[in-house]
Amino acid sequence: MQVTLTAKVKLTPTPEQASLLLTTIRSIKQALNHTSRFSFEHQVATPFALHKQLYRPLRTTFGLRSQMAQSVIKTVAAKYRSMKSNGVTGTLAVFRKPEYDLVYNRDYSIKKDQFSLNTLEGRVKVPFNPNGMERFFDGTWDFGTAKLVVKKGKFFLHIPMTKEMEEPTDDRRIRNIVGIDLGINFLATTYDSDRKTAFYNGRQVKTRRARYAQARKSLQQRQTPSARRRLKATGNRENRWMSDVNHQLSKALVTRAGKDSLLVLEDLSGVRGKTEKVRLQDRYVSVSWAFRQLRQMIEYKAALHQCKVIAVDPAYTSQTCPKCLKPDKANRIKKIHTFRCKKCGYTTNDDRVGAMNLRYKGTEYLSK
Ligand SMILES: [Zn+2]
Repeated sequence: MQVTLTAKVKLTPTPEQASLLLTTIRSIKQALNHTSRFSFEHQVATPFALHKQLYRPLRTTFGLRSQMAQSVIKTVAAKYRSMKSNGVTGTLAVFRKPEYDLVYNRDYSIKKDQFSLNTLEGRVKVPFNPNGMERFFDGTWDFGTAKLVVKKGKFFLHIPMTKEMEEPTDDRRIRNIVGIDLGINFLATTYDSDRKTAFYNGRQVKTRRARYAQARKSLQQRQTPSARRRLKATGNRENRWMSDVNHQLSKALVTRAGKDSLLVLEDLSGVRGKTEKVRLQDRYVSVSWAFRQLRQMIEYKAALHQCKVIAVDPAYTSQTCPKCLKPDKANRIKKIHTFRCKKCGYTTNDDRVGAMNLRYKGTEYLSK
């Protein structure tokens, strides 16, 4: 599995370097907007045509170096291409944020504790804060096109890092099996090989999502342009927040499981039974993209920790007795959040049962 993540490195430039970086980033922003306007007004969109008309002026007027001018042209052409494919035409593309794209080994490289960055005045060697970054510099990661970003006077390099991660191909290496049950009151309940249960409280998430739903509803009823704009903004904010929740949750789950674990999730893509469908509706995962995203994040982080993820058929995981394995709908007493086996009398918290049964399915998977 190929893993890509973005390393955010804080640069610690000298005052002279900072001022040079700022000039560079500003010139590039101006050049981007100039190029965008030219493309818009003259209906010139291909990199080739833009290059012909703008390469010289970009170099002389904005003082860009050759690679930067080419990069600006490419960025603008790509921006209009993607707008067009999203059905947006007749709109001027505006570049608001001060950002600068740097191609690895062409515009930037790394040596020991310094980044060598291409600026308007050639290469400068800028020190950075290596805290927590060490693992990326062991030669096993591929560096992608980085973005130089300035925020409140501080400089950051956002670098996409790619690595081919190997799943534990040998299942005998697995020393911990964790059942992960996703829900509402608890975002996740896990049960592991030490017979330990962990609950990840979801009450705050539930409340906040209800608030978002309420806001969406009232905005939807008003059909004004400003309501539509606010609806979109609210949706974006909710998505960003949800991504953040998923990020933290997946990180917590994988960190707790530890290296060489088997993580067992429910496969909800093939849910067919009617009872299970009803159950699905009242889940944290009822927003399907949020669930898909969480799954992806868990798989990602699992790969980074040499863990394996499997998704199993969720049928009866909430109503089967984890002790005697007898399934019975009546085992689950929702009202008092209790599971009581009709056959053997085993009693426990009903949220724990799903995780226990998922873990059991993991042991079955390993013994095959
Ligand atoms: Zn039982």
